[in-house]
Amino acid sequence: KEEVNIISGALDLRKKTVKDIMTKLKDCFMLPMNSVLDFETMSEIVKSGYSRIPVYDGNRGNIVTVLFIKDLAFVDPDDNTPLRTLCQYYQNPCNFVFEDVTLDVMLKHFKEGHKGHMAFVQRIEEGDGDPVYETVGLVTLEDVIEEMIQAE
Ligand code: ATP
Ligand code: ATP
Repeated sequence: KEEVNIISGALDLRKKTVKDIMTKLKDCFMLPMNSVLDFETMSEIVKSGYSRIPVYDGNRGNIVTVLFIKDLAFVDPDDNTPLRTLCQYYQNPCNFVFEDVTLDVMLKHFKEGHKGHMAFVQRIEEGDGDPVYETVGLVTLEDVIEEMIQAE
């Protein structure tokens, strides 16, 4: 029965981690902070179909904010607005989570969170000196719910 599947799916959330279900960084549609919101860039954003676009500064692992599609409502492509200007105006915060966090905890996090329904997955690189955090992907509420309702 469907109810049984959903309940067992919910129980299975404890056995999986965000790393198991994340969209890997190399597959993420993101924008560099130094982008210009011209016609071409705005077309690409719309074409991507995503409603949240991570924005990075320098390398793709250095995500600093998120652009929401709705933030583009008053942007005229003819103005060639720098993305940085828009990001500084909205200052949308990022959610970070470690790759070994289990999905039940992630779900609770999303439910209680005030930073929206997307989180960036981080791994700790143990080196000689201080540990370095590397961003390896993103996970959304949709990913967790999909995992929950697909489980047998
Ligand atoms: P919404 O449904 O709220 O409009 P969306 O369709 O942009 O948002 P989600 O529904 O949250 O995104 O996620 C759908 C899938 O797309 C998930 O697997 C998620 O990991 C992935 N995803 C979300 N945003 C991006 C992005 N910017 N780049 C690549 N994958 C993404
Ligand atoms: P794809 O099919 O997208 O090329 P894959 O899953 O076949 O990828 P890898 O990307 O090599 O193969 O991943 C192998 C394992 O390492 C998987 O468990 C994956 O989740 C994990 N992994 C891959 N990249 C990273 C990363 N940057 N940080 C943490 N774990 C990673």
